[in-house]
Amino acid sequence: MDLPRNKIIIIAAPSGAGKTSIVRYLLEKMPDQLVFSVSCTTRAPRNSETNGKEYYFIPVEEFEKKISEGAFAEWEMVYPGKYYGTPVSELERIWQLGKTPLLDIDVKGGINIRNQFPQSLAIFIEPPSLEELSRRLQARGTETPESLAARINKASSEMSYKYAFDQVILNENLEKACTETEKLVRTFLQAPAI
Ligand code: 5GP
Repeated sequence: MDLPRNKIIIIAAPSGAGKTSIVRYLLEKMPDQLVFSVSCTTRAPRNSETNGKEYYFIPVEEFEKKISEGAFAEWEMVYPGKYYGTPVSELERIWQLGKTPLLDIDVKGGINIRNQFPQSLAIFIEPPSLEELSRRLQARGTETPESLAARINKASSEMSYKYAFDQVILNENLEKACTETEKLVRTFLQAPAI
């Protein structure tokens, strides 16, 4: 398989910027073109999460073994002690279906994939402000005070990488951000692969 000629859609953003809602919207609107790329992670599943759907939840030892085997297209320790990685097997599985992987990953991972796969479209979802981001994360109710602080801290440094992306979508109004992103993705997928 000629991997670099296959397309990838990367949606990256500081955590809480609304990226997951946009990813869900795209998957609903474009089921014939896009398939969610399920990452591996060593963090614990949240209440509503199922193994194999949002993530493959695996122990640290298994994750580190996969790193040594070269099983990840990219991986990051996104939070202290918490690994996240994009399995090469997941990208290949989706390309085999004749579809395009949709990646919901962190900013560094997004840039890493963009650099390796010239046929990828990297979209950065920008939150209106760090204050709004903090408000949204608190409303989501999934964070402890420590993990909230860690996410805000990380978000603030991630904002400076938006210029490394092909496109930036400001998520002030979710509906508008969704339709704008869909338009970008459709245009990209219609263009012939180089
Ligand atoms: P969460 O713990 O909230 O599900 O995800 C935390 C962050 O890790 C989010 O920014 C999410 O997009 C990112 N993430 C999820 N999967 C991957 C992955 O495979 N690689 C990288 N680098 N980041 C990921």
